[in-house]
Amino acid sequence: MYIQENIKTQIKAEYDVAVCGGGFGGISAALASARQGKKTVLFEKQFMLGGLGTAGIVTIYLPLCDGYGHQVSYGIAEELLRLSISHGAEARYPDNWLDGVGTRGENDKRFCVQYNPQLFAILAEKLLIDEGVDILYGTYAVGVRMNGDKISHIITENKSGRLAYKVGSVVDATGDCDIAKFAGAPTDTFKQGNVLAAWYYSAGKSGYKLNQIGCSDTPEEEKTVQNKKTELLVDRRFTGLDGDELSEQTCLSHLSTFNDFLKKRKDDPEVMPVTIATTPQIRMTRKIVGEYELSDKETHKYFEDSIGMVSDWKKRGPVYEVPFGTLYSARVKNLICAGRCISVNETLWDVMRVIPCCAVTGQAAGTAAAMTDDFTSLSVKELQRILEENGVVLHEKDII
Ligand SMILES: Cc1cc2nc3c(=O)[nH]c(=O)nc-3n(C[C@H](O)[C@H](O)[C@H](O)COP(=O)(O)OP(=O)(O)OC[C@H]3O[C@@H](n4cnc5c(N)ncnc54)[C@H](O)[C@@H]3O)c2cc1C
Repeated sequence: MYIQENIKTQIKAEYDVAVCGGGFGGISAALASARQGKKTVLFEKQFMLGGLGTAGIVTIYLPLCDGYGHQVSYGIAEELLRLSISHGAEARYPDNWLDGVGTRGENDKRFCVQYNPQLFAILAEKLLIDEGVDILYGTYAVGVRMNGDKISHIITENKSGRLAYKVGSVVDATGDCDIAKFAGAPTDTFKQGNVLAAWYYSAGKSGYKLNQIGCSDTPEEEKTVQNKKTELLVDRRFTGLDGDELSEQTCLSHLSTFNDFLKKRKDDPEVMPVTIATTPQIRMTRKIVGEYELSDKETHKYFEDSIGMVSDWKKRGPVYEVPFGTLYSARVKNLICAGRCISVNETLWDVMRVIPCCAVTGQAAGTAAAMTDDFTSLSVKELQRILEENGVVLHEKDII
């Protein structure tokens, strides 16, 4: 059964670039767009920036390097890593990278840090405001209005009600490809579903601590007896795309946190949970089917339209150049994706979803969105020129 609603929606404002979602993908995109001088708005459904990387208690900024002493991700990916620990890292402080001392050989620590989520959210917000981005918190992008094969308006809902924003181009940084779905662009979902996670912070005798409860979905061949993290918390999986299921997932996650806390209490009567996630900890949900789908087999491959590089957080060695075609579908000409919803195959998704990759694709998407409202006719050479001007290294052959 349905009800028919005739809603008149007020057009609140007009922006050159609308970024939907304020995780690492969206922060990077909004920053890049505003730095190109474009009037930029960022819609975020929560009341803090950072997405999974703050509200989701996922505070390990995975490596910018290949594990053999070569940095591969630059630009905003490095800027945000440094910002995240500008008032102190929580752990994994890689002196050899940050201070330019020591060697960066095979056995050195990777260029990876653990940061404080609260501080990062505040610092990222300040940075975006200083760069002129309009941040709209508590604002859900709930739909789009199309004009042919372009999005003309983003429809939002917040405390003020339902509002429309006229837009030039749109960055889908929702992590879930919500905007692409609304606009009718081709998307795909994570078939096998996600395992339950319950990462949280506690404070006790051993200090303030990140508890990584719930493993990532390690492929069978990578599982080892020593790797205790491969134990599943519950025997079911989650799509992350259904309202009822997300509430169940959240309650199960809370229960896992509570059980873990009770276990810890046996050794430490003072231990307390101090921060739990305020967003569902789900890794892979929906992605765009883009003009190009990057595969896990394409390591060390030269792409003429590369917009930057990423490494593999799971192992030393692999480097991927990211082709521009992974960010958009020609079906919706002024929509581009950033973060964990870009076009990659199922195996590579687990590599590309992490924070540095989201920042790399965010910078490219935001820069491109500032240049055009038709990604099918964008000059990729010009995009690459601007990215390089802003610190990005595009090709593996150019790594020092
Ligand atoms: C349990 C777990 C552990 C992980 N471990 C690590 C790790 O150790 N290191 C690492 O680097 N990565 C890790 N990851 C992955 C990483 O945290 C995320 O994939 C990455 O942060 C995603 O960034 P994003 O910007 O693409 O999306 P998100 O962080 O999901 O951000 C999307 C933002 O958009 C907002 N949003 C969504 N829909 C809408 C809408 N319709 N309207 C308005 N706003 C919307 C959300 O509130 C959110 O703020 C982990 C993930 C999980 C779940």
